[in-house]
Amino acid sequence: MSALKIPLAGVTGHPIAHSKSPQLHGHWLKAYAIKGHYIPIDIAPDDLERSIRLLPTIGFVGLNVTLPHKEVVIDLADEVTDRARAIGAANTLTFGSDGSIQADNTDGYGFVHNLKQNAPDWAPTTGPALVIGAGGAARAVIVSLIDLGVPEIRLSNRTPKRAEQLRAEFGETVKIVDWSEAGDAIEGTKTVVNTTALGMVGKPEMTIPLDALSAGMVVNDLVYTPLQTPFLKAASAVGATAVDGLGMLLHQGVPGFERWFGTRPEVTDELRAAVLK
Ligand code: NAP
Repeated sequence: MSALKIPLAGVTGHPIAHSKSPQLHGHWLKAYAIKGHYIPIDIAPDDLERSIRLLPTIGFVGLNVTLPHKEVVIDLADEVTDRARAIGAANTLTFGSDGSIQADNTDGYGFVHNLKQNAPDWAPTTGPALVIGAGGAARAVIVSLIDLGVPEIRLSNRTPKRAEQLRAEFGETVKIVDWSEAGDAIEGTKTVVNTTALGMVGKPEMTIPLDALSAGMVVNDLVYTPLQTPFLKAASAVGATAVDGLGMLLHQGVPGFERWFGTRPEVTDELRAAVLK
C-alpha cells in the first residue's frame, strides 16, 4: 500500500446487510484514529471473481468473506493458509500490492480467543469436548480443538452423514455420537460447544437434554442472537462457565484488521456495546 493512499477494506456476502463486521471494524478504525474505511459489499456469486480482482486496483487491502462465498474464495486465492485449507473455507482475504490474494480463516482463532478471554481457567486438554453440529462453523471449532490438543472430540449432528464426513477428514480424535444420545455425551466433558443455529432468534429451540451439564465445564454457544440462549442459561444455572458467541465474532476480526491497518486491535466491553447497538 502506498503511504499516501487511504486503505480500504470491507466484507462481502450475498446478502450482506445483516453483517456486524462494519460496526466492528468501524469501531476499531475510530478508536485507533486510523485513516481507513470498511464497508459492506453485496456481491452475487456470478460476479464474485471479477469483483474481488477489481478491489486491490482501487485501494482495497483486504476483505472479509461470508456466506455464500467462504468456500469458493479458496479457489481464487494465490496463497491459502494451513488453517483455511484444513477448514476448507476462508473468511479473511489480504491483497498484496501486486493484486495477489491470500486467503485465511480466522473463525477458529476467534473461537479460541473468545474462550481464553471469557473462561480464563479453561483447560481444554484435560478432558473430552462435545461439539453439537457439523456445519461450516463446526469445522473451524474442530480444527482448533485438535490444534489445542483436546484428547477426544465427541461430535453429534442431526444429519449423521455430515458428522461422518468430518470424522473422515479430521481423524480418530473425533468420535461420532448419535443425535439421540447427544445429551448423554455431555457427561465427563470439559468443553461443550453448540455450533448449530438452534436457539437463535427465529430458529427452533435446542431439544438436546441438558441435565448432564455441570460446574467445571466451559459451555459456549456460537449463536449470539440472543446473547443468553436457553443453552447458556442452562449452563449458568448449574455453575458451568457459559460463554456467548459474540466474542468469537469480535476476535475473528483481529488478525485481518491488524494485517490491513497495521494495528493489533483489542476486544473490549466498548467494542461489544458498539457492535450490539
Ligand atoms: P451451516 O454450515 O449451515 O450448519 C448448520 C448446522 O446447524 C448443521 O450442523 C445443521 O445440522 C444444524 N441445524 C440447523 N437446523 C437444525 C435443526 N432444526 N435441528 C438440528 N440441527 C440443525 O451453518 P454454520 O455456518 O456452521 O453456522 C452455524 C451457526 O453458528 C449459525 O447460528 C451461525 O450464526 C453461527 N456462527 C457464529 C459465529 C460467531 O462468530 N459467533 C461464526 C460462525 C457461525 P444438519 O447438518 O442436520 O442440517
